[in-house]
Amino acid sequence: KKEILDLYKPVGELRSPICCILGHVDTGKTTLLDKIRNTNVQEGEAGGITQQIGATFFPAKKLKEELIKTQQFYPVDCNVPGLLIIDTPGHESFSNLRTRGSSLCDLAILVIDLMHGLENQTLESLELLKMRKTPFIIALNKIDRCVEWKNKKNASSYHQLQNQTKNCKMDYESKRQQVITQLAEKGFNVAFFWENEDPKTYISVVPTSGVTGEGIPDLLSVIVKYTSVFMKNKIKVKEQFNCTVLEKKVTEGHGTTIDCLLVDGQIKKDDKIILAGFQGPIITKVRALLTPHPMKEMRVKGEYIHHDVIYASMGLKISAVGLEEAMAGSQMYLANTQDDIDKATDLINNEMEEVKKYIKLQNQGVGVAASTLGSLEALLQYLNSQEIPVSYVSVGPVSKDDVMKALKNVLLEDVNRRKKEYACMLVFDVKILPDAQKFAEENQIKIFEANIIYHLFTKFTDFIKQVKEERKKKEAADVVFPSLLKIVRIINTKEPLILGVEVEQGILKTGTPICIYDQNSNKNKIGIVETIELNHKSLKEARATTGAVALRIGTNQAIQAGKQITLETKLASLITRRAIDILKEHYREDLTLDDWQLVKDLKLFLNIG
Ligand code: GDP
Repeated sequence: KKEILDLYKPVGELRSPICCILGHVDTGKTTLLDKIRNTNVQEGEAGGITQQIGATFFPAKKLKEELIKTQQFYPVDCNVPGLLIIDTPGHESFSNLRTRGSSLCDLAILVIDLMHGLENQTLESLELLKMRKTPFIIALNKIDRCVEWKNKKNASSYHQLQNQTKNCKMDYESKRQQVITQLAEKGFNVAFFWENEDPKTYISVVPTSGVTGEGIPDLLSVIVKYTSVFMKNKIKVKEQFNCTVLEKKVTEGHGTTIDCLLVDGQIKKDDKIILAGFQGPIITKVRALLTPHPMKEMRVKGEYIHHDVIYASMGLKISAVGLEEAMAGSQMYLANTQDDIDKATDLINNEMEEVKKYIKLQNQGVGVAASTLGSLEALLQYLNSQEIPVSYVSVGPVSKDDVMKALKNVLLEDVNRRKKEYACMLVFDVKILPDAQKFAEENQIKIFEANIIYHLFTKFTDFIKQVKEERKKKEAADVVFPSLLKIVRIINTKEPLILGVEVEQGILKTGTPICIYDQNSNKNKIGIVETIELNHKSLKEARATTGAVALRIGTNQAIQAGKQITLETKLASLITRRAIDILKEHYREDLTLDDWQLVKDLKLFLNIG
């Protein structure tokens, strides 16, 4: 037992750096992670790799065995006690590794599939890394899929690339060049790690294969070098307590527990802690500090080691009373004195405000709900970058009250402004309570759910497109295109009024209301264009290029007006404010600059404000 507990003691000046894996789905994040983890797990000895809560711990001793493989061309001193790699890949888990707006992840590994290059979630991950200012390296994965690839399990990819056939090398070269060009187009300068003299300016690229394990020694070498050389200050052992709640879970025999990542400082059994809850700050006392047994797989239940104290950096489980309402993604603070409690309460109360600062809440916008503060923050940031307005945010299960609040603005506005696209909630990775669901259905409120931010976004944008199409169809009846007509022949002034005209400017369509274009006229509608004919063939529309056409204009007023019409009279579309709005919203591209000028002239002529 002592031997096991010794593993958790701090060594040296630096703590273990924390790494996280991000990337598009199917790029091989899980495979790569499993390979890193399994490199030595079979031995199951105390000096080996241990699974912690939420992370895998890679001890210095094992790291050194891997670093030897790259020593020849990329020497690295291993002066970190180990490496913590977060077990759940993906940007959702990265989002939760947050502390006061910055990231707890010291270095991220962005996985790109050599065969597919940059994909949607690669871009989303890049955005997220930029926003959190997190340094990262790129694993260019699936090198084993190059033609004629000859693999050697768990070898350095640098060496392996040199041992391939000419065909294979050519295939690899052309593929990696494509990816590098794509990255450059997005403004990211990259360099292969063995050539990278300036890793702070150029992002290091490491070729890898999760299937063969090739490149894993290289990946570990780059991580160790980057963190221990370039991030020395950040990963120095610190007194200051820094701990984040990753997940809330019910654990057999312990009730509701929280999985935490202790980044700096230490925590003891019986310490008082304070953290954010759905109903306000929660103050409680640590009943047990737990980590899994190193020999056992995580999946084995009830096999936790109890600790009296845990030092950073470490993943751990805390059991305590009153954690049912705990909010994942929030900071945890020590609360051993009243002063601690007061300060922490302020910080916790401000946390939501801080998350919201990525977006300004609008009167009209969608409602947003997420499972954790971290994912809410990432989601808001993304919606902001896509210019989607948000009116309401919440963390935790969606209640009827949330839906009501989210839609208060929209429902009021709906009557006049028809903002149907905002009668929605975007719900990320969180339960919707049955009465909330029912309320939403009754009030025709769309709820979009997804566990991947990008999917939520595409679902919503598809919906917007559909709403716009529907609205365009409905509004087509009210649209009026601008036209200015010159009369070239008066064919019939009795019913029906038939005139020969040329379109001087704009677009004339059937269904257009027409008035006399003369400052001294009453500017009333004389009728609606019923048909447009060219050489006895009917047209839907006519322009200046069409030539002279015959118009049939309906209604009694037309006959009245017909009496005033001479060859000197000009006619114009009787445009309205609403018609202009519809033109702007749905037909912007259909009108030329001249057509828009005519809209302006008609607006002036008709005194439309
Ligand atoms: P994730 O969604 O990013 O976690 O991707 P997975 O790890 O689940 O991998 C997706 C698919 O790609 C699986 O079928 C893997 O077997 C395969 N895969 C992952 N890494 C590699 C690799 O390096 N080479 C090859 N050939 N296939 C890989």
